[in-house]
Amino acid sequence: MRKTKSAQERFRESIPALLRWYEYNARVLPWREDPDPYHVWISEIMLQQTRVEAVRGYYERFLSEFPTIRAVAEAPEDRLVKMWEGLGYYSRVRNIAGAAKILCERYDGALPADYELLRGLPGIGEYTAGAIASMSFGICVPAVDGNVLRVYARLTAYRDDIRAESFRRYVRENLAAAMSEADEATDERSAPGTSLPGRVNQAIMDIGATVCIPNGKPHCDVCPLAHLCAAYAEDLTGEIPRKAEKKARPVERKTVLVIRREGRVLLHRRPGKGLLAGLWEFPNVPDWRTSEGAKRSAAEVLAAACREDFPKDGRTAGSSANTPRMRAHRLADCRHVFSHIEWEMRGYRIEVDEGSADGSDGTFPEYAAGRDVPGAPGSEYVWATAEELSGVYGLPSAFQYYKA
Ligand code: SF4
Repeated sequence: MRKTKSAQERFRESIPALLRWYEYNARVLPWREDPDPYHVWISEIMLQQTRVEAVRGYYERFLSEFPTIRAVAEAPEDRLVKMWEGLGYYSRVRNIAGAAKILCERYDGALPADYELLRGLPGIGEYTAGAIASMSFGICVPAVDGNVLRVYARLTAYRDDIRAESFRRYVRENLAAAMSEADEATDERSAPGTSLPGRVNQAIMDIGATVCIPNGKPHCDVCPLAHLCAAYAEDLTGEIPRKAEKKARPVERKTVLVIRREGRVLLHRRPGKGLLAGLWEFPNVPDWRTSEGAKRSAAEVLAAACREDFPKDGRTAGSSANTPRMRAHRLADCRHVFSHIEWEMRGYRIEVDEGSADGSDGTFPEYAAGRDVPGAPGSEYVWATAEELSGVYGLPSAFQYYKA
């Protein structure tokens, strides 16, 4: 009778199979041509939550503007955010900036060849540290992400939630042991960029992206691990990996105000903490507004933007006498999904007549700030030209639709 393989055997035997497959099937990616630690770092951070094809252009533009870690450390934050525009999860680029400053202060502007030191840098977690350490420095450490968890859950027919920390630890430990055994057994001496740990980690990334795919049926017929795979043998590939149900995301409705005056558009900087912290946005207010409601909100925003002390002369807030002359055009509705919340947005383009919104003719409502308006004390507004909107101010993806 044929003996069933233990999980440890499956981990161990997967390493030579992965290496053989990778030799002929590795994806050609710009950051693999030159596994400089800085390049691997930037590519791995960009690839978090983002497809490879979407990352290529960003990666090349980012490195051409910031060719060194020192260039990142010295760059203005707004410029870094602008270069990240559309990639989302902007805390990633802020962490890169914070880590770059630390690297310049402590390590002469270079990433250290030490897994634990890498992990101590802002925004560099276990996976990214593992990727940089193995791919750039040849250190024998796994880089465990969702791809790795999925492949090894199938390989070992693991039937519980793969997001559990205990499973992550189990995979990390077994993969580290298997890699280290294979690394010690090899007498091949390779350059850091092509070291055994680097190739194993990249092979699993590629298998996870192209063969043992996350959505849809895995391509077991061309998989180099099929002979080791318990899920394939037991016809469980449709049920594994198992993920516990996530809670439904709350939905927020918003009205987005694209306020234009004399060829410029009004932008607001979001608060320094919380979702999209410190990024520029089109002013927006909670809930969906009618066209008249949108104009009233726009008048409040304009008042806040001008930071005038408005006369407390008893005028009725929002009355037509106090409202700048403006026209509202309804734009299409738009939905944006964040990791933990969804926005359902209704947009209005608000055209403000010349001379009616600079505060000089007393046309504002008397309530400048407070309520729902993004204009609490300390907030920041700018009137941006079309060139500034495309070249200077980084707008999060959620607002890109209303940029056109
Ligand atoms: S045999 Fe199929 S399920 Fe198993 S690792 Fe390969 S692609 Fe994934």
